[in-house]
Amino acid sequence: MPHVHICEVGPRDGLQNAHHLMPTEAKKAWIAALAAAGLREIEVGSFVPPKLIPAMADTAESVSFATTLPGVKVVALAPNLKGFQRALQAGAHKVTFPVSASRLHSEANVRMTPEQMVEEVRKCAAHPHPGVEIEGAVSTAFGCTMQGVVPEDDVVRIAAALAEFCDCVALADTVGYANPAQIRKLFRKVKSEIGGKLEAAHLHNTRGLGLANALAAYEEGVRHFDSSMGGRGGCPFAPGASGNVITEDLVFMFEAMGVRTGIDLDKLMAARKLMVEAIPQEPTYGHFALAGVPKGFRAAA
Ligand SMILES: [Zn+2]
Repeated sequence: MPHVHICEVGPRDGLQNAHHLMPTEAKKAWIAALAAAGLREIEVGSFVPPKLIPAMADTAESVSFATTLPGVKVVALAPNLKGFQRALQAGAHKVTFPVSASRLHSEANVRMTPEQMVEEVRKCAAHPHPGVEIEGAVSTAFGCTMQGVVPEDDVVRIAAALAEFCDCVALADTVGYANPAQIRKLFRKVKSEIGGKLEAAHLHNTRGLGLANALAAYEEGVRHFDSSMGGRGGCPFAPGASGNVITEDLVFMFEAMGVRTGIDLDKLMAARKLMVEAIPQEPTYGHFALAGVPKGFRAAA
């Protein structure tokens, strides 16, 4: 069993902000390669109106394809009940709802206030969804490009509201404002409020602190991480947002520390190659990919 659980969000977070579309067949081959590398949870798309984000127009097809891959938990994002119903119909195993703690970002991203969005997720949770997990992700939890500072109390209040009816709650540094001290403080604060329902850290590497923040979260007891291959990603409605924490570097860090991820680094690099070939024009990041495996390296046993 892995010690940490990594959810690859590249096919959703990575592609939604890309300037080029990844053809559906290439997307499927990439998702299959991610699964072959050992990723047991993949966020394959988002059920938003295709007019808003054309890269997500084939999400239903990506979801139903991904459900044919054995042992993979297929995640989709939904911003409202309509998106949730589409996710259920497509066969998603888990649906994640972004609830922004920043009022301005919330209105730009989902055209609802944070309070209205919490009520929307409550409505979805009340809708029959046998066997499907619901995650409430508190986005812009560490700061916002529009609003600036996001008060911790706002994050705690939203997380506590979501914990009433969601299976799990995540904290997201949507625009890469967090630092390790802040990560420790806020994860601790939210955990003291909602306990084990606090599950994942969704971190962006916008200012290069992605790994440091992931390590801080790990040391606070977090065992679920979202990351994106090649550090691609970003919210199209949050100016300045870019790059999730890089999957390859995150896996390398944990494995080098002796923390099992269940992911094979060679196969992960093969998946990265597929991704780059599918949209070569997009910037791709990652130190592990540049430098390779250090001499004498041993993956976690
Ligand atoms: Zn993100």
